Amino acid sequence: MKYMDKGIVAIHEALKKGEITSQELVEESLAKAHEIQDKTNAFVTILDDAKGLPVTDDLLSGIPYGVKDNYSTRGILSTGSSNTLKNYVPFFSATAVLNLEKKGAVPIGKTTLDEFGMGGTGTTAHTGIVHNPWDYDRMCAGSSSGSAASVAAGVYPYALGSDTGDSIRKPAAYCGIVGYKPTYGMISRYGLFPFASSLDHCGVLSRSVEDAAIVVDAMKGLDPKDQTTWDSTNIHLYENLKKDVKGTKLFYIKEICDINNYPNASEELIEHLKNFQATLKKCEELGMSVEGVSLDQKLLNALPSVYVVISCAEATSNMSNLTGFIFGPRGSGKNYEEMMKDYRTKGFSPLIKRRFIIGSYVLQKENQEKYFKNAQRVRRLIVDEMKKLFTKYDGLILPVGSGPAKLLDDPTDMVKEETTILEDHLQIGNFGGFPSITIPNGFVSDLPVGVNITGNCYQDELVLNIAYALESSMNYKNQIAKEVTK
Ligand code: GLN
Repeated sequence: MKYMDKGIVAIHEALKKGEITSQELVEESLAKAHEIQDKTNAFVTILDDAKGLPVTDDLLSGIPYGVKDNYSTRGILSTGSSNTLKNYVPFFSATAVLNLEKKGAVPIGKTTLDEFGMGGTGTTAHTGIVHNPWDYDRMCAGSSSGSAASVAAGVYPYALGSDTGDSIRKPAAYCGIVGYKPTYGMISRYGLFPFASSLDHCGVLSRSVEDAAIVVDAMKGLDPKDQTTWDSTNIHLYENLKKDVKGTKLFYIKEICDINNYPNASEELIEHLKNFQATLKKCEELGMSVEGVSLDQKLLNALPSVYVVISCAEATSNMSNLTGFIFGPRGSGKNYEEMMKDYRTKGFSPLIKRRFIIGSYVLQKENQEKYFKNAQRVRRLIVDEMKKLFTKYDGLILPVGSGPAKLLDDPTDMVKEETTILEDHLQIGNFGGFPSITIPNGFVSDLPVGVNITGNCYQDELVLNIAYALESSMNYKNQIAKEVTK
């Protein structure tokens, strides 16, 4: 019998009953990891030396999981999927990983990402492209591509991700699983390679809302090593998961969801938006109210540029420590400057270099006011608007992206002008640090699509209540990727 395609509680019960041992789970998980690696390239490293651990009352004890390769793991290669750190073995572990270690969880592999989390395609890792287990010709989205692929394929019940713009929640949608980014600072980011510190979140990819709740309960907590963390001891996601959602008030943004705004809509986009409308009906059947709210189109249009300016500026600054002297392979040259230039020129992919150029430009003294500070101001306007709406509503519900996973080799499938906001609105969750979760929302062209729920800061329990109720009304819980027949 197989166990790695089950949920955490079922696996825990099987362990407790002695139906299976932790060591056997590790073997099953490693075998599956190797089986999918050739087709998906989900892993930078598979931890073949992993051993089973004692089973305690902790739900996560003895159970395998995956770690995105931008989390530092002591004594284990941690590359961030970048050539600049291709040989980097940290001497400490990220707090989130240590918190899971305390529960007796067993890491099985380090998963592939878009280099340093910068990207949304899963195509920029130094070890190559990540393929979607539903259809190997399609992308997983990114940047938590390997985590999404491996969880969807049934290597283990969950894997860690990070999310700066949508990097947990978009790949989750493309792979037919759950992706949850809790409120900013609920999980310590100590030991997570920083991308854009004011937007970066740790989180999880799993196959059910329940599993996401269990894992984040274990990962979260105040950490003196990350001053943005806050005391969440009063938040019990798993314990409070099943609260009744009757009377809960949801809203969606009309400009994003209205099919009339997409005159050139593809069949897939039309289907995707129909699925979304059907889900709104389900929300009403569950006793929630749903209203369409109109947002200033100027604010919506500003989303992608605000994101680009802030994230590139912060990334440029954060990654100035990558010189090739302290970490990574040393560059060659006659002096410090030459060596650093050689290391950075050879090490970073073109996408990252472009982002550093944007970041440096907007941070230049003469440009700061016009670009960087203005982006901050518009970010504030967007967050204030959302906070105002969250005084009236409990949650924002929106479709994820413009349809199912895109083909890897179809240039016409890149983000289109018309659907930009549909592709980028999840960034709102990062601008405000809002708790945000994607769950599967059925199929379009036999491929999974997702729906997202975002709530006000610190309202993680409520957001998960909504997601849990909705998930229970649909049939996609614990969904494992089935290769589509063409
Ligand atoms: N796709 C976005 C980007 O390329 C988000 C990445 C992320 O969330 N880490 O920046």
